[in-house]
Amino acid sequence: MRRKLVIGNWKMNGNRAANSALLSGIVAGLNDFGADCAVCVPAPYLAQCQAQLAGTPVAWGGQDVSVHASGAYTGEVSAAMLVDFGSTYVLCGHSERRAYHGESSALVAQKALAALASGLTPVVCFGETLAQREAGQTEDVICAQLQAVLDAIEPAQVGKLVLAYEPVWAIGTGKTATPQIAQDAHRFLRECVARKDAVAAQGVQILYGGSMKPENAKELMAQPDIDGGLIGGAALKATDFLGIIQAV
Ligand code: PEP
Repeated sequence: MRRKLVIGNWKMNGNRAANSALLSGIVAGLNDFGADCAVCVPAPYLAQCQAQLAGTPVAWGGQDVSVHASGAYTGEVSAAMLVDFGSTYVLCGHSERRAYHGESSALVAQKALAALASGLTPVVCFGETLAQREAGQTEDVICAQLQAVLDAIEPAQVGKLVLAYEPVWAIGTGKTATPQIAQDAHRFLRECVARKDAVAAQGVQILYGGSMKPENAKELMAQPDIDGGLIGGAALKATDFLGIIQAV
């Protein structure tokens, strides 16, 4: 039985005062929902998360990681630095990084490897654009994105990944994938993983991301291959984030 996991992606939002209120609100509102929960925050706020969340059921992590261990890579954050601040997770290949920073699937795979090597859980994001969906290319696109990661890792590492299906047309647009569209993509991704390791495929958590809110979370989470959510906008309000966790 796979555990459900809900991760908030704060993107480039927050300040110390607002974060403090948000994190306290999340911690205060969490009951024993039987789901795992985390926030992926801008790197400067990792220390704040560590100070406020250590000892609570809420884990934390980064939104990107360098493929390099250290050195002359101005602006980059290494996996070891994320670990230094107690991180559990790191997002790899979010569609905003692929689109605005030209991250290729090969680079995303190297980032996932760097995360794994430091003991972090990479949350590897996949998704098609609206044009790709309308052209009937969804499966080809997400399979190629996933395959780059599967090709880079050892079979024993498959079970250490978290995958996130995030159709680009649903991110921050208010247009959520229907539960059936999401389920079809999740089942397909699980089948792709099974070609590498059938046992690990049954255990790997595949999150849905794209305008998930408390109102639509229950139906999405009820799908057999949807193991949780990667939440953007709704992760910035404690009541909305808790509402999604409660829907699990
Ligand atoms: C995201 O950025 O990963 C995301 C899913 O955003 P939103 O929930 O705002 O669509």
